[in-house]
Amino acid sequence: MYDVAFAQRIPAPRALAKSGKPADNTSMVRSLTTLFLLLAIAMPANAVTSYSAMAGRLADLGSRSELVKVYNVGKATSGDRSIWLAAVRDPNVDALNTTRILVLCRQHGDEPVSTEAALGLLDRIGAGTAPGAREALKHTSLYIVPMVNPDGADALTRRNARGIDLNRDWGRFDGVETQAAYRVFKAVRPQFVIDMHSWDKEDPYRANCLEGPRDGSELGQAVRSLEERAKSEVGEGTGQPLSEIGYDRSTEGTLCHRFMFEQMRTPSLLFETTAGMDEGPEFTKRVDLARNMMLWMLRDTAANPDSWHRLASDANPPTPRPTFALGTPVDASGSLARQRERAGVRAPVAATPTREPFRLPRTVWWAFGMYAAVALCVVMLRNQSNDAGGIRIERDARGGISDYRAVYRQG
Ligand SMILES: [Zn+2]
Repeated sequence: MYDVAFAQRIPAPRALAKSGKPADNTSMVRSLTTLFLLLAIAMPANAVTSYSAMAGRLADLGSRSELVKVYNVGKATSGDRSIWLAAVRDPNVDALNTTRILVLCRQHGDEPVSTEAALGLLDRIGAGTAPGAREALKHTSLYIVPMVNPDGADALTRRNARGIDLNRDWGRFDGVETQAAYRVFKAVRPQFVIDMHSWDKEDPYRANCLEGPRDGSELGQAVRSLEERAKSEVGEGTGQPLSEIGYDRSTEGTLCHRFMFEQMRTPSLLFETTAGMDEGPEFTKRVDLARNMMLWMLRDTAANPDSWHRLASDANPPTPRPTFALGTPVDASGSLARQRERAGVRAPVAATPTREPFRLPRTVWWAFGMYAAVALCVVMLRNQSNDAGGIRIERDARGGISDYRAVYRQG
């Protein structure tokens, strides 16, 4: 219980301060706590990009880069969010004469790595800072859907707003999101599809992985050789080894990459990073790996045209020609501009190369937090030891730091 009568006997702090008693270290506690709280609020997190912020960034890119065109390819289940496609092409090269790669990201809303990786790559291509990309685009075009499941992404749920697991929906197409992604596939008729994921908490391998077909066909062999090269050049090359998983035809065919290979006879791979939604350096490493994988595919087509040509020529032999029927690209004057306004994203002044903002590692912030907490404890303990002057403090559940203060000043 809080002793009201006792509290009333305690002089007001201001009067005590004037009385020339020893300096009070509770002000230090208060300053430290305030400082810590302010820093915690201002702490720059590796925040996951929201749907609106993504739409804003795409709008900016579409309006300022001649290489990136942005298309609205359908509405998500909620009707509030759209599915966007970024087509990365050299405007002076006929896309029909390039190797077309379709990159699908974030079918599972709680796997943000691929969206961040796609946006990072698009930013760099737009800014001209993706090494080798400009040259590679003479041979390759990239079609990237950075967020197939925007409702799930904003809710951070695996499934879409109707509870459909989109990566168990290929061939069924119950989800409007998978329908939209499939429309993109049919319009572009890519020679290669990669579906980007992260393990959830049930990560059985604790590893970054590629999954490809093991069916012994010529097409399967071609995909396998590409997989081996990715393993050595992206995985080992970046110090983040990629494991490989094979699947055969008896396994579930409603996953996007398996559907693509088995039903569409289109070479395809699944990419996974290790599990974890945590932010900080580990998250950044996963994003880097996923982005490197995308950039590697773009550059490798230019460096190894034969192997990609083999993939392309073996793919679904009487391939329907792509229609490229994607509608009109959206630029900053279109509906994306409104998205950007809503997201509070300002239009870029000039196409300046973007730089990574400096961020202190999260461990530093944690260390600081621990320091503040320890300092607080030390001061509180010292106050308690000052109680030895015969004054007994009764505290209530509200913590009662002001009561300590008053008593300490008395002592
Ligand atoms: Zn997934």
